[in-house]
Amino acid sequence: MSPAERLTRTDRSHPPRRTPLSSPESESRRRLLRNLALAASVGTLASTQLRAAGEELPLIAVDDPAAKAVKYVEDAKKAKEAQGNTCTNCSLYGGKDGAVKGACQIFKGKAVKAAGWCNAWAAQE
Ligand code: SF4
Repeated sequence: MSPAERLTRTDRSHPPRRTPLSSPESESRRRLLRNLALAASVGTLASTQLRAAGEELPLIAVDDPAAKAVKYVEDAKKAKEAQGNTCTNCSLYGGKDGAVKGACQIFKGKAVKAAGWCNAWAAQE
């Protein structure tokens, strides 16, 4: 039998091995799950801090070259292309619900107005 056949062969005479809950494999699995849960918590905390930081950031000026490049406006009503969209329903916006401004992923270190808009607007999934 070739090595490939040995790898794909299903041997029904040996049922899958079960590990008792107190086995080292089981402890290892529990540790892995605990670490995954911890990593998820840290990710949520970092995301929350990023959102809070957006409120502390200075607003980007509409005449900033980066803002001009994407036709950023502080009031989406002034941009026909916005079609009713604003920064608050953009997937790149990091502001809290109800906040007047928040971080935007395309303007590092600057905040945008919640009522603003630019042509990099991206739908939330
Ligand atoms: S990318 Fe989104 S959040 Fe950022 S300025 Fe444009 S519309 Fe607003």
